[in-house]
Amino acid sequence: MPEFKVPLRDIKFLLHEALDFPGHYKTLGLPGADAVDRETIDTILDEMAKLAENVVAPLNRSGDEEGCHFKDGKVTTPKGFKEAYDQFVAGGWQGLSHPEEYGGQGMPMSMGLFKQEMLGGANWSFAMYPGLSIGAMNTLMLHATDEQKKTYLPPLTEGRWMGTMCLTEAQCGTDLGQMATSAVPQPDGSYKLTGSKIFISSGDNDLTENIVHIALARVPGAPKGTKGISLFIVPKYLPTEDLQVGAFNNVACSALEHKMGIRGSATCTIEFEGSTGFLLGPLNKGLECMFTFMNTARVGTAIQGVCHTEHSYQGALAYAKERRSMRALSGKKEPDQVADALIYHADVRRMLLTQKAIAEGGRYMLYSAAKLADKMTVCVLNKDEKGREHWDDKLGFFTPVLKGFLTEMGLECSNLGMQVFGGHGYIREHGMEQIVRDARIATLYEGTTGIQALDLLGRKVLLITKGAAVREFTAEILKFCARNARNARLRPYVWELSKLSAQWNYLSTRVMLTAAKDRDIVSAAAVDFLHYSGWVMMAYAWAQMAAVAVEKLEKGGLESPEFYEAKLQTADFYYAKLLPRAQAHATSMLAPTKSVMQMKNDHFSFL
Ligand SMILES: Cc1cc2nc3c(=O)[nH]c(=O)nc-3n(C[C@H](O)[C@H](O)[C@H](O)COP(=O)(O)OP(=O)(O)OC[C@H]3O[C@@H](n4cnc5c(N)ncnc54)[C@H](O)[C@@H]3O)c2cc1C
Repeated sequence: MPEFKVPLRDIKFLLHEALDFPGHYKTLGLPGADAVDRETIDTILDEMAKLAENVVAPLNRSGDEEGCHFKDGKVTTPKGFKEAYDQFVAGGWQGLSHPEEYGGQGMPMSMGLFKQEMLGGANWSFAMYPGLSIGAMNTLMLHATDEQKKTYLPPLTEGRWMGTMCLTEAQCGTDLGQMATSAVPQPDGSYKLTGSKIFISSGDNDLTENIVHIALARVPGAPKGTKGISLFIVPKYLPTEDLQVGAFNNVACSALEHKMGIRGSATCTIEFEGSTGFLLGPLNKGLECMFTFMNTARVGTAIQGVCHTEHSYQGALAYAKERRSMRALSGKKEPDQVADALIYHADVRRMLLTQKAIAEGGRYMLYSAAKLADKMTVCVLNKDEKGREHWDDKLGFFTPVLKGFLTEMGLECSNLGMQVFGGHGYIREHGMEQIVRDARIATLYEGTTGIQALDLLGRKVLLITKGAAVREFTAEILKFCARNARNARLRPYVWELSKLSAQWNYLSTRVMLTAAKDRDIVSAAAVDFLHYSGWVMMAYAWAQMAAVAVEKLEKGGLESPEFYEAKLQTADFYYAKLLPRAQAHATSMLAPTKSVMQMKNDHFSFL
């Protein structure tokens, strides 16, 4: 397994130089956040990095080899997970970004994202346990009654209990309107839930003393489809008055999935057998409430794309410097050696630079979105509903692109890392194939790429904003272009971005006009639209990083000149070798739907 190092220099470059997080925290309006200066940020990052590298990363390979165990209805995690989790909890990491009144440290939400990236890069299977619990905590923060918050948030914040997301059933993952788990009202105001949920991450495990399921179910007589779904809190053990573990609540694990990757993460079938549940949020509004949970979870899954890209890149880069093969086409580079190192070959450099460009560009995109999440969270805490909606809408435009594009690229880049290793990449002992297997799930769960694409194009761009979401974002890009048009080093990026901004609006309008006559275009064009948007957003990210690098090279910064030069060279590579892919998506997106829809179902195969 390639040894994992947290890319602290890049993270600190983004936080302090490119995105000015200390300045952002000062003006955020979150009590205490104004004191989170550069020094505080660095201390927290350094401590997180130690935990990720020294405690969590060493369990990545062994967790994959061993997997989780299921015996007598109980799930146990791989050797060492429990001890590592206890250390994580003892450090107070679970409550890092949650309010002090529930036992947290009150840091901004974005700090939690940096934490998740470090843990996830080290060991995604491990990171999923506390990661999903954060989603449950966020849902409770937003929709729970004060009493529910007092009961569930302290032990979850402490990490003594864990939260899950219980949506999927055998007949439906995407189409939750088909969901059948029932919730029957009881005289005391609680509900009895009966039904079976599949694929529930962390559904059962031995890391915590209790598991709090945030579950979707249907009350008798509720409207059919998505309009009749409600959200419930269903603890595995009912809490006692003093927030200890009480009676067993008939929540059973009946199976553990055997799967391709993330084998250290327990994926469970969970049976509710007349289990007591407590309504969370308004009746029949469960799906709407769950959307908050889903957005956080989707950004959380987007991180996975960057984590696997980074991990695979670190392995591939080290190998490309050591392994020797033939001579570089431009002449011997290491004449004293039997052959030149792989890194001298242009095609290997293409693969490495693709990984580097995606890891660093994706990280910039995620951290920019984290600022929006911070602002949204402050509005939640201040009960400012209008403000919350405003920032949630802004974040909502990024979410499907981050989730869909970054996880697809994470998979491609994990594959590239394996490719750099040649045949050795396919052999288990190097650990590169594990990264590919672990990365594969990210484009499937929390809504497949296709569903993210429909959410972006169908809902956010066409239905809700009639193209305004793209217009607003491109207006911001154009302001950047205007500010930097005179800078000779940045001019090529500015020129390209200006053209893309116009094209992105044109494409949205063309799809919108076609959709008025042919609804299938939305589904046929969606994934192309998502990829196109991803390439443009990342181009903007690289242009902004390049602008910072140019300034720091002129005036001096926290990093060495070589670091800033490498940023500019990676931006050059991105614009020259990766961004042209956007044009293929633009062409494909506008192709009439006839070529997709004309074939009869019976003619797909003539076996
Ligand atoms: C390891 C793992 C962990 C998971 N963890 C959890 C968890 O913690 N909690 C939880 O609730 N669920 C979890 N899931 C479930 C996961 O979220 C679903 O599998 C996923 O949302 C897809 O649903 P599905 O499998 O039913 O696929 P389907 O909905 O059957 O989709 C099949 C294919 O059809 C496409 N499709 C479906 N509908 C449309 C449409 N209208 N238009 C165009 N294309 C469409 C999809 O994009 C996909 O390609 C997990 C799954 C796995 C494998």
